[in-house]
Amino acid sequence: MKNKDPDVKNKFHWPWLEEKVNGVAIQTWCRKLEQPGVAFCIVCCQKIMYDSNGKKVLLRHAVDKNQDSRYRLLKENTTIPDASAEVSRTSFVDRVEELRVLVYINYGIMKKIDQNSTKTSATRGSLI
Ligand SMILES: [Zn+2]
Repeated sequence: MKNKDPDVKNKFHWPWLEEKVNGVAIQTWCRKLEQPGVAFCIVCCQKIMYDSNGKKVLLRHAVDKNQDSRYRLLKENTTIPDASAEVSRTSFVDRVEELRVLVYINYGIMKKIDQNSTKTSATRGSLI
């Protein structure tokens, strides 16, 4: 297999995803994109450029205030795999496919959460 990050200063390392910050594994919310130097937060639906600072960027993102509150909201609404779930050693392509699905689902949920920010769990049954 060829290197996926040919021109990136800090190359991506899959073990980064297994590290936990405040009890939450980075893999819970972070996915590697096909694009060199770019990962993706499925909680924020936002790209994370790790090119210049490597893992530090992911660690910083993990403790971001928005990240924290969004993560908790999403977790209440499921779809985020349990942090203790085993890392499946699937292919790069499979991971990217999984990302598309998660982003699609989570983006829909975040939109509904934004719209219904004052409402409570009574509305959650119909989210998925
Ligand atoms: Zn995020």
